[in-house]
Amino acid sequence: RASAAPAYLSGLNPEQREAVESLDGPVLVLAGAGTGKTRVLTTRIAHILSTGRARPAEILSVTFTNKAAREMKLRLGQMLGQAVEGMPWLGTFHSIGGRILRYHAELVQLTSNFTVLDTDDQIRLLKQLLAADNIDDKRWPARMLAGLIDGWKNRGLTPSQVPAGEAASFGNGRGGKLYAAYQERLKVLNAADFGDLLLENIRLFREHPDVLRQYQGRFKFILVDEYQDTNVAQYLWLRLLSQAPSQSSLPGSTRQSITSREDGSPGLDASRRPGDDDKASGGVQTTAPKNICCVGDDDQSIYGWRGAEVDNILRFDHDFPGAKVIRLERNYRSTGHILAAASHLIAHNEGRLGKTLRTEDVDGEMVTVTGAWDSEEEARGIGEEIEQLQRQGHKLNEIAILVRASFQMREFEDRFVTLGLPYRVIGGPRFYERAEIRDALAYLRVINSPADDLAFERIVNVPKRGLGDATVQMLHDHARKRKIPLFEAARLVIDTDEMKPKARSSLRGLIENFERWQVQRNALSHTELAEIVLDESGYTEMWQKDRSADAAGRLENLKELVRSMEEFENLQGFLEHISLVMDRDGAADEDAVSVMTLHSAKGLEFETVFLPGWEEGLFPHQRALDDQGRAGLEEERRLAHVGITRARRRAKLYFATNRRIHGTWNTTIPSRFLDELPQANVEITESKGGSGWGGMSGYGPSRFDNVESFGSSYSTPGWQRAQAQRGKNGGGGRSGGGGFSESSSPFSDRGASPGARRAP
Ligand code: ATP
Ligand code: MG
Repeated sequence: RASAAPAYLSGLNPEQREAVESLDGPVLVLAGAGTGKTRVLTTRIAHILSTGRARPAEILSVTFTNKAAREMKLRLGQMLGQAVEGMPWLGTFHSIGGRILRYHAELVQLTSNFTVLDTDDQIRLLKQLLAADNIDDKRWPARMLAGLIDGWKNRGLTPSQVPAGEAASFGNGRGGKLYAAYQERLKVLNAADFGDLLLENIRLFREHPDVLRQYQGRFKFILVDEYQDTNVAQYLWLRLLSQAPSQSSLPGSTRQSITSREDGSPGLDASRRPGDDDKASGGVQTTAPKNICCVGDDDQSIYGWRGAEVDNILRFDHDFPGAKVIRLERNYRSTGHILAAASHLIAHNEGRLGKTLRTEDVDGEMVTVTGAWDSEEEARGIGEEIEQLQRQGHKLNEIAILVRASFQMREFEDRFVTLGLPYRVIGGPRFYERAEIRDALAYLRVINSPADDLAFERIVNVPKRGLGDATVQMLHDHARKRKIPLFEAARLVIDTDEMKPKARSSLRGLIENFERWQVQRNALSHTELAEIVLDESGYTEMWQKDRSADAAGRLENLKELVRSMEEFENLQGFLEHISLVMDRDGAADEDAVSVMTLHSAKGLEFETVFLPGWEEGLFPHQRALDDQGRAGLEEERRLAHVGITRARRRAKLYFATNRRIHGTWNTTIPSRFLDELPQANVEITESKGGSGWGGMSGYGPSRFDNVESFGSSYSTPGWQRAQAQRGKNGGGGRSGGGGFSESSSPFSDRGASPGARRAP
């Protein structure tokens, strides 16, 4: 009886509603873009809460970005008509993993104030290890080792579990040893890298079944968005948490390893020992199946390069026996033309699960393809289109530019600054990556955790205090010998006569400063503390005296940093935030164009989406093709599909015929993906950034105006063939797109069975 149902349920279609209301047992929602998967998850939480099935703190809900988590909380508040108190376990895998890890840090040889390293720190640390081992870092770059270690961590492999062949693949057979040394070093530094937030969490659960049981008992409901992009580590973590407490008792020994499914082993099932060692589980014994609900879309799996396993979604009913699989077929997001274009494009991939997608929306505007002379003109053209939309009353918040590679952003940023068009960059930690910000953060990190050697090293001689490389080297020697942090070593050394008096008193000054700040930390707010630190350390003064052009900007950034801290309760919370922000955005309330990579646009939607840079080599990206061949191409195509499906009403594709990549100009070939779009839904337009080249022979959008049938064949470069056809015939006319009913859809049911997708 619809009228009796709570308001939040009333707008749902029957399948969505079933997914929301099936609260007992595992549920998988497998459906295309814009069909309401995320909405289902949010509504499901609302339903759980309002029916009293669980309290906010008993729901584990994993989103792909921090932004998505915030959004979900907001929507939840709207649905329930009141702000939700808590929901402490709504966040990304990393933020939740990190949170659990802090509670039990000592069980994995850390303390609760451990530092989360960013890539930069990670590389620096690895460089030190390579140097200590006399490995030539030209031949064996630290970055490469970092990549290997990340890969292993994504697959849930601790040093002892890395297959021998792979462990030997770096530094003449020393890869595995270096990984082990790195992990050891992290413990000494009281630090974890990003991968550890999950890997160490898994180790914690494996080695301390009582802790695991505690969480298994706590989380009554588990919800996961974008399940197609979970990697093995995330999968293992979920599997551990999703088992009912009494089934999951793991022997306390460490002899059983976490097995990766890549070696064909059955994953965690092997270690299940029902009834084994149940004494510690206390009152939380229950055998009820876990209520886990995952939603995803195999056509949007775009993190294969980072170890995501689309197979996770295909194995769901194997992993969670009795799972209910629900499909959603109505797209609520996009107009007919947009949906048709996206569906036709993705149909070029082989071995898909296959889905039906239909919209009841109007056809709307055609998808446009615009050629520009170069990237500057592309930015100019897009800038003008945006201004035009703005004049017509469209909100900038509803406009996004989605790039394939982050270097493409600069051109747009420059253009928007010139135009005075507000924009925000989403996804890249731009602001916090600036050198002056990182320096300031390093000071705060040392205060927060004096064992944070990387931070200490970064600022020990910034501003210059006569504590150069020789001093740092000496501190390192002491630290290594005694197995203590640099900060401790410095404290010891200043009482000896090992250093020259001047350097010694300088170092003593610094140490005394830190000790004082650590005490003041308890009396002052963290923002006051930051101001004092920047002032007393001489750091602000350093930039005040600096004559270079950007010094003023840096000082402003430092002020902005202190301002940004106000949003947080304390220093720890702020530093935690910094290390976790993958998707920060500017002032949330400002009406601004969003600029981001396609990868970080996942799950989002905008009225108008600009997609620049559709050129061979850039999109599909050459690296993906080189490294992974056909699989790489298909992943790029899924990315293109994700891009187009972000648009509600307008999708505008661009390519530039000349582009500078890494400093050299290249003449480009339009992306094969353009060829793969259905003619009936696409319109080729003239660049509005027009520098008058449009009529130039050879290049320019005008040559495509009369194209008869681009997209009819799939080999590249079709656009060039299209050029040959130019003038043959008029009008790639508007044959109507139509609402897609199941029967008229050319896109449904390619690749029939789940098994067809990929050989194991
Ligand atoms: P993606 O795969 O891109 O993440 P999704 O499946 O998660 O997409 P949502 O973002 O949940 O889709 O929904 C897409 C849009 O459709 C949203 O604006 C959402 O509010 C709207 N929507 C979903 N279901 C309904 C419905 N039953 N009635 C009206 N609008 C809906
Ligand atoms: Mg979604």
